[in-house]
Amino acid sequence: MGLRLPLRRSTSFTPDHPALMEVPGPTALKMEANVLVMGADSVGKSALTVRFLTRRFIGEYGDMEFIYSHNLTVDGREILLHIWDVPSSQEQAEDGSSEEKRIQWADSFVLVYSICDRASFNILPLKIQFIKAAKEGQSQEKVPIVIVGNKRDLHHQRVVSSEEGRLLALSLDCGFYEVSAAEAYHGALMVFHGLAKLIPDTKLALKKGTGIRGIVKTMSAVFARKRTDSL
Ligand code: GDP
Ligand code: MG
Repeated sequence: MGLRLPLRRSTSFTPDHPALMEVPGPTALKMEANVLVMGADSVGKSALTVRFLTRRFIGEYGDMEFIYSHNLTVDGREILLHIWDVPSSQEQAEDGSSEEKRIQWADSFVLVYSICDRASFNILPLKIQFIKAAKEGQSQEKVPIVIVGNKRDLHHQRVVSSEEGRLLALSLDCGFYEVSAAEAYHGALMVFHGLAKLIPDTKLALKKGTGIRGIVKTMSAVFARKRTDSL
């Protein structure tokens, strides 16, 4: 089954957390990175992504597919993040090779589970091992991955403890955050900021100068299909 080419959205963004804000100097590097947001259905992948991009929580997100582009300044590096939030319906409809292609497209990964959904937590080790096998085979560099336990506000329904999440992240050498996309913006900012910090300069430099057309071209190449629509 063929993949639809995702729509692409851009947002402008200025972090309001002073501890995380750094003003880039004249020599600051401008770079890009591709981020894939993965996880089981309804864990809050879209809520987390939209919270980071807009600071808002709107409750229902439908099943639309987007690659969002968003600027973030981390350690004096201005990074343009391209964030791909894959809809669950598409993941269920396709075979494993499409997921593999998305993994090849991405430089870094956000793996989301819900603290109220044990199954969504249990699928993570396999997914992460799959990502590592696919990416680390090509390079010696560690793959930037953060694990996110979402829906922290629903503490009465919690079935996965914070310690379990932290231990999993430790054992797989990933970052870890527990957040509530529903309650706060700060957690979502920490997730993407923390992920960006894990991306080595070498990975970013490779993408320098890749604009919208470049990215669409990259994706066309990834999915080996002809684009007939115009940008
Ligand atoms: P996705 O399928 O992983 O993209 O999940 P969505 O972002 O569409 O969210 C699924 C449902 O969980 C929606 O009804 C959201 O409103 C809800 N949701 C997402 N994040 C949170 C959260 O942090 N807390 C609570 N209570 N609900 C959330
Ligand atoms: Mg979604």
